[in-house]
Amino acid sequence: MTIPFPRVRFAPSPTGFLHVGNARTALYNWLFARRVGGKFLLRIEDTDLERSEIRYEAQLIEDLRWLGLDWDEGPGNQGQPDMGAFGPYRQSERLDLYAEHTERLLAEGKAYRCFCTPEELEAERKLAAVEHGPQIYSGRCRNLDQKSIDQNLAAGKPFAVRLKIEDHPLRFHDLVRGPVEFAAETVSDPILVRSASSTSAGVPVYNYVATVDDALMQITHVIRGDDHISNTPKQVAIYEAFGWPVPQFAHLSTILGADRERLSKRHGATSIATFREMGYLPEALVNYLALLGWGAEDGKTETFTLAELTRAFSLERVTPSPAILDFDKLNWLNRHYLKLADPERVVKLAERQFCRYRPDIFPVWASHELHTAEMESFLANQNPPIQLGLPSPELIGQRKAWFASLVALFLPAVDRLDQLPAKAAMIFGFDVEAARADGENAAVLAADSARTVLGELASRVRANSGRVTPEVFKTWMNEIKAATGAKVQDLFHPVRIALTGAHSGREFDKLLPLIEDGARLGLPVPSVRQRIERFVGV
Ligand code: GLU
Repeated sequence: MTIPFPRVRFAPSPTGFLHVGNARTALYNWLFARRVGGKFLLRIEDTDLERSEIRYEAQLIEDLRWLGLDWDEGPGNQGQPDMGAFGPYRQSERLDLYAEHTERLLAEGKAYRCFCTPEELEAERKLAAVEHGPQIYSGRCRNLDQKSIDQNLAAGKPFAVRLKIEDHPLRFHDLVRGPVEFAAETVSDPILVRSASSTSAGVPVYNYVATVDDALMQITHVIRGDDHISNTPKQVAIYEAFGWPVPQFAHLSTILGADRERLSKRHGATSIATFREMGYLPEALVNYLALLGWGAEDGKTETFTLAELTRAFSLERVTPSPAILDFDKLNWLNRHYLKLADPERVVKLAERQFCRYRPDIFPVWASHELHTAEMESFLANQNPPIQLGLPSPELIGQRKAWFASLVALFLPAVDRLDQLPAKAAMIFGFDVEAARADGENAAVLAADSARTVLGELASRVRANSGRVTPEVFKTWMNEIKAATGAKVQDLFHPVRIALTGAHSGREFDKLLPLIEDGARLGLPVPSVRQRIERFVGV
């Protein structure tokens, strides 16, 4: 059966950061809605008041926006009104609604008050364990007579509200997994509301509030992680008790680490905020998340923009088998999108990475945009404090262009933008002693020819007063080759170590202008002369 206008929702609990699993759930819901012109709702499941925090909600919203996922209905941002006709969209603002519905179920005899204490329930569970019976609630309070109920209420005894599960198997059709069935004996009368009393409405539980909301918000397809499969029969029973139509369900497979274990901190970054900080582009992450459990019809296309995904996505191609978080593939996609991205955007993102990882050098070329009061106080709090005199707009322009060429040179060598500062570090100088001590460098430098070659280079540097252009450098190297008879690698390896601290790296044709221009523009970049002075002594 196809429903003309699907309505789907993403219903996160603001109790922590948005992780890959939930982000994928959000994306699949979004794609499903966008593909067919349906509606995508954001609902904040914040009934767990102790663990829910507004900062997580804010972060969640920021992460979804960053991924490019917008919603048609959802909570208002920072005191703004909600968006949509089915609100409020925060569960903490819907408590009256849940209470009304509880009254209705009680009045219709579909639910009952359970006065069992935690101790009594525990004793019941223990007894069931001994007798090898099912570990489910016995239904002791199911048929309490009105007199006992009234007495308990009058005595102020706290109670839970339980749904009366009728004696039939609970089944639902899962769009990803096919038919799923649970015998009623495996589902005890589920609690809908905890710790209620004659004076308090109690605390409605997830299964209950999610179902009431899904029904009232007219959700047609519930697409979520498969950790909720065992909740689904209880939710189906709640729909049935109310006489509401049951939506379609699609449960997405678990995401595992490369070791096939459930994702945890051990597997490194898993929150969207961390991926962003690491310099993954949102288009790479979205593309990657889409492939975590779904594949293109042709079985091979792997690169998809959000717009392409919207056209290609279908729930039928979502697999029930677990998806493996594979950083190699994510890195490959990120490199792909870094190459395609507007260079100006990449430079801006790279600036932030330098700002974070090299606050010692970054401020010198800080652009006007980044030269904020916040930046100023950050710098003033460094030890020693950094005072920033703003250079002329012209010099800023040249420095920005210089930084863009630095990014362009090192970008092909990284998977993520947070790796750039380290890759480009030697442009800003390097530790001469550490470079000499490095095993492979030491072997290169130990050769007699290395000393002669560096001596020849030093004397040319001494005699030179201009910029060391690639042309000047080439002439010197040809002269040194003729004078020493050194073979190419005996020639270039020691020179590269002296200039960059490593015996391999990017072409001199590209490095030399970066080094010489950086020095000329007053950036913390040692010139060729300064490098040779420090390494060889001039
Ligand atoms: N708040 C639940 C969660 O974050 C939502 C589950 C659902 O989609 O029903 O897991």
